[in-house]
Amino acid sequence: MKIAQLSTGHPEIFHTLQGEGISTGVPAVFVRASQCNLHCLWCDTDYTWNWTGTPWPHEKDSEAGYQKFNRQQSQLEMTPTDVAGAIREHDCRRLVVTGGEPLVQQKEFTDVLKILRGWDPEWTFELETNGTIRPHEALDDLVNQYNVSPKLTNSGNPTRLRLVEEALAFFAASSKAWFKFVVSAASDLAEITALQDQLDLAPDRIVLMPEGRDATTLRTRRQWLADRCIEKGYRYSDRLHIQLWGNERGR
Ligand code: SF4
Repeated sequence: MKIAQLSTGHPEIFHTLQGEGISTGVPAVFVRASQCNLHCLWCDTDYTWNWTGTPWPHEKDSEAGYQKFNRQQSQLEMTPTDVAGAIREHDCRRLVVTGGEPLVQQKEFTDVLKILRGWDPEWTFELETNGTIRPHEALDDLVNQYNVSPKLTNSGNPTRLRLVEEALAFFAASSKAWFKFVVSAASDLAEITALQDQLDLAPDRIVLMPEGRDATTLRTRRQWLADRCIEKGYRYSDRLHIQLWGNERGR
């Protein structure tokens, strides 16, 4: 299976605080899957998919020095047993599976979670997903919480790729799923409300988070978004890890 590789050559598996969504502030081990089936313009884990030679644009294309990533240097091939072993090295029994898009490799991650639960039934598993791929039953049986982040028009992905009805219906019907939206402009709210109606979601299952890869951008968007959450009955999420550590990888 393919795991994001740090510049040290190690897999991106690290012990930190959950920085987003309903578990914000809870200590957890993160494992970052390489590969994604979407290509968001503002993606802050573009090293999981924006490979040299691919056609996808990114908002950083115009920044001096930005270039697409060397695939070989950006991902590690590991077995599920090795991934589980690296996760278990940390003194924590909460795991956040993130990416990239982990469900691209759902069979392999099912094996990882099975191995961990086999070692210790106390493990709690969060799975972060863009909501375009339906989990298999074997994986669903293991997952405690889905952090589903459907992508809006602001992501730059075609609608047919970012909104997959069958997958969204699965998550909407799951009591384990929370819907987190990255908001960068006022116009995003109408899309979120339309999806809420389409999926018949209670407002408290919806979390709005400002888009931003630095503390200054988050600060400028925070107040407006918090007020919209109060009006609509949505939850608000900041990006705790950006506040604490900036955009540093592996934190
Ligand atoms: S779905 Fe997530 S990982 Fe994939 S491109 Fe979009 S933001 Fe990045």
